Amino acid sequence: MATGSGSLMWFRKGLRIHDNPALERASGASSFLYPVFVIDPRYMAPDRRAFSPGSSLAGLNRIRFLLESLSDLDSSLRKLGSRLLVLKGDPGEVLVRCLKEWNINKLCFEYDTEPYYQSLDEKLKSFASSAGIETFSPVSHTLFNPADIIEKNGGRPPLSYQSFVKLAGKPLWESSTLNLSISSLPPIGDVGSMEISEVPTIIELGYSDSELVDETPFRGGESEALKRLKEFLPNKAWVANFEKPKGDPSAFDKPDTTVLSPYLKFGCLSSGYFYQCLNDVYRDVKKHTQPPVSLLGQLLWRDFFYTVAFGTPNFDRMKGNRICKQIPWDERDELLAAWREARTGYPWIDAIMVQLKKWGWMHHLARHCVACFLTRGDLFVHWEKGRDVFERLLIDSDWAINNGNWLWLSCSSFFYQYNRIYSPISFGKKYDPNGNYIRHFLPVLKDMPKEYIYEPWTAPLSVQTKAKCIIGRDYPKTVVGHDSASKECRRKMGEAYALNQRLNGSVSEQDLKNLRRKLEEDRTEEKI
Ligand code: FAD
Repeated sequence: MATGSGSLMWFRKGLRIHDNPALERASGASSFLYPVFVIDPRYMAPDRRAFSPGSSLAGLNRIRFLLESLSDLDSSLRKLGSRLLVLKGDPGEVLVRCLKEWNINKLCFEYDTEPYYQSLDEKLKSFASSAGIETFSPVSHTLFNPADIIEKNGGRPPLSYQSFVKLAGKPLWESSTLNLSISSLPPIGDVGSMEISEVPTIIELGYSDSELVDETPFRGGESEALKRLKEFLPNKAWVANFEKPKGDPSAFDKPDTTVLSPYLKFGCLSSGYFYQCLNDVYRDVKKHTQPPVSLLGQLLWRDFFYTVAFGTPNFDRMKGNRICKQIPWDERDELLAAWREARTGYPWIDAIMVQLKKWGWMHHLARHCVACFLTRGDLFVHWEKGRDVFERLLIDSDWAINNGNWLWLSCSSFFYQYNRIYSPISFGKKYDPNGNYIRHFLPVLKDMPKEYIYEPWTAPLSVQTKAKCIIGRDYPKTVVGHDSASKECRRKMGEAYALNQRLNGSVSEQDLKNLRRKLEEDRTEEKI
């Protein structure tokens, strides 16, 4: 066992060197530093029962992105005289073993607001405290500490962006200098009998070549994140004029937004550093857009969802979630499967779902379209089911943001104009009349004339034949007719909203069952 003071830096997210207060504290005044990442088989090992290649919790693209981020971190640590110690197993158990076996007197890790980490971290902190080990767990994944905002708001999270922004103000560290580099790190101490490995490859994790087909074009890691950031920052006009929701969801060769979300998700990029870089640009230009539409405003959306998620019990469910409308969603697995497998028959929707499967990233408005289509727009399937699909396949899959946006898009919370539905036909056409996006992600439609590309079922058989795409054979017929399905969805949403209002939000399981029955009966009567 090594003598002297040892620190353990536990990496989970926050996979970076720059602006990493936990790493800084771990490396200060320590004779030894153990930088650790634990590979949890539940997150990384293949689960062949899942609907896509990957583990039981994550699709392969995100696992690959994580491995790339770990390799990059390892190589940065090596340049500083250290390395990443990769261990395998249940993270809680592995960490306790490390703390028992190594001579550690300081345990450092980034604070995490997700329920999974909240309970795990509590247990670890209590073990550390009983063993006389100091813990340091700073908030560095978000711009603000969600707990502070909630406290300022009298114990409840603000439920609108505007009130969030007002309460949040400016981050305390706004004008301080962030620590962007570390010159060296203490050496690694004796690792005893703990089994340490290198960052594994996808194949070493147990995946086969045949599973590696749909590879996202986005590479993981802090170096890649900083490179991306530095590529667009010099374009000050672009940064200053950024305005969401303007922007083209069909731009895939050169996406219309930063594609920094997967890097922020894993903490390869510090949101604080990103914030400071944007402020530097804003200072240099005369005029720039403002929140909520500006680029800095997007980072505030991220913090907004983190804050609401942290302060709302059962945020990721309809049941028991006080901010979520209770809606009698349908249980129609065949519709969910058609959506998930890009077989709805609406090329715009299916192309987006293919992009999700292949790239693990889509433009924000594209996400809007498919989430609306699955839930309140056309299929009336539960938002939790769509959330699960995104949670698995997105490379930027983020517990707070994903759930928050599904609540929003399904008109279950935050946004309530359920009459405003995205058309699966005309919305995409506005941006991309030729259908280049569809042709790219759905090559079966590549020869369909532009007049029919968004509604191929309207093409005469001779046109379908010439395009080598017969609807119903080479590409599916539509699962629902949009006009009637969206009308039916509006009716159901109207009834559900009325019920929620009548019962002042206290809608029971039985109330929902009764409403479901009534909606069915009304529909049968209408048909008669
Ligand atoms: P930019 O427009 O360049 O924005 C910069 C950063 O701001 C993003 O990287 C992201 O961290 C943050 N941001 C942007 N938009 C939002 C938003 N609406 N809410 C919160 N933060 C935002 N984003 C995720 O990071 N993870 C998710 O799991 C996720 N799930 C979503 C699910 C649905 C149904 C919808 C409609 C949106 C979801 N988003 C999610 C939000 C948004 O679509 C992505 O953050 C954005 O498209 C990422 O691309 P970008 O990095 O180019 O964004």
